[in-house]
Amino acid sequence: MRKTKIIATVGPSTGDRSALAALMRAGAEIFRINASHTDAAGVGQWIRLIRRASGEARKPAAILIDLQGPRVRTGKLAGGAPLRLEKNETFGIVPSAEAGRKGRITTLCREFPRMVKAGDTVLLDNGRMELKVRAVRPRQVVCRVVRGGMLGENKGINLPHAPVTLPALGRYDLAALREAVRCGADFIALSFVRRAADVLAAKRWLDRRGSRLPVIAKIEKPRAVAEIHQILEVSDGMMVARGDLGIEMGVEKVPVIQKQLIALANARRIPAITATQMLESMIIESRPTRAEASDVANAVFDGTDAVMLSGETAIGKHPLAAVRMMSQIISAAERHLGEIQSGPISYRETSVNDPELHAIVHAARHAAKDLEAKAIVVYGEEISPTILISMYRPVSPIIALVPSEETLRRLLLLRGVLPLISRRETSAEQMIRALDRALLESALFRKGDEVVILTGRRSIPGARLMTKIHRIGDR
Ligand code: PEP
Repeated sequence: MRKTKIIATVGPSTGDRSALAALMRAGAEIFRINASHTDAAGVGQWIRLIRRASGEARKPAAILIDLQGPRVRTGKLAGGAPLRLEKNETFGIVPSAEAGRKGRITTLCREFPRMVKAGDTVLLDNGRMELKVRAVRPRQVVCRVVRGGMLGENKGINLPHAPVTLPALGRYDLAALREAVRCGADFIALSFVRRAADVLAAKRWLDRRGSRLPVIAKIEKPRAVAEIHQILEVSDGMMVARGDLGIEMGVEKVPVIQKQLIALANARRIPAITATQMLESMIIESRPTRAEASDVANAVFDGTDAVMLSGETAIGKHPLAAVRMMSQIISAAERHLGEIQSGPISYRETSVNDPELHAIVHAARHAAKDLEAKAIVVYGEEISPTILISMYRPVSPIIALVPSEETLRRLLLLRGVLPLISRRETSAEQMIRALDRALLESALFRKGDEVVILTGRRSIPGARLMTKIHRIGDR
């Protein structure tokens, strides 16, 4: 069983039900809708399409809505033609809905002149072009070109050291969020998180609408790296968003920051996602480079829960081959990996503040290790026992038996966890019988296999906070 999960970004290359169903059969567990490239109605359409494909493929699939967040973009250009920015040329960036031209480019961000000061660096189009701010006037920012290039329309503007002035969620994000809640998405990712308050703003918005959607903080700004402990304390997951992180901090810093961020998320016991350019060359080619294969494997060694495909599945020529290849690289890497040693950690430092639950999970982990159990089986609706046992990265697979599809989809993100549906039972005896039935039906286990059962605090009376060694079929 492959343990590290695969997230596939949807787009024109996966725009119909059969293409999505094929990715599900090939092993993609989570589907990411990038709300930077679609409006709220598009978010809803994608969710419905993915749900239908999941029914057709008979494979559960979770849906992650990646909100654009406070991203600033350049505006339209006269005639739509790209503009050449020459080294040392001086020009103005003007907040306006008009089209830009030589000497004057525009942005729809009205705040722009208040976000920069003389001497700041401005990066355009994924950092391809670099500008220095020479002067800030009320209605325009005068810049000098440090690294030139061809500028197209609607390209991203990165301001690595800009202060927090834009709200965490703009009008566009709120519309996408409303649709995500209405259509039953499973996770939200917040772009350009700068501080814990950004995550809390999204959580409060969801809370007011009675939604418990987990919020994943995308770490891609220097300020977020500096405030990582506070951010992880309030987040339900973390994404190493290496695209913008590399633009804003320098590509040379990405590998070390990736290791540090994954280690911190693991210690906090929240899921970690490693994203961007993992098999980039497969957007065109049918095989990845050796460096890309090593990158995916290294994210697995670092302890990530999931690896993400972006352009490879959204706009690439070989989306299915990319998912298959990623799955093979992960499996090969995991075969050479024992239990990842996560150091001793106090329950207080984790996202689950329950010492008794930690104690019972710890016991289950050791029992499974000593007995080389065929699986650790977590029974019940609560997700925290599964989150905790998954974060020990045990060698044994974790089977989570849950009563609802919604809970099942949330567990798809966790490393080493295979969630299966099982009815709600009312006695410990019935639970064991249901558990045997579900394991045998999965065809992954045989009668007599030894497993370690784990239950949470809110399980069946008489079987709460329990670790039990069990042979499938024994009464
Ligand atoms: C990234 O920057 O790495 C990322 C995941 O965000 P996006 O794809 O939205 O730029």
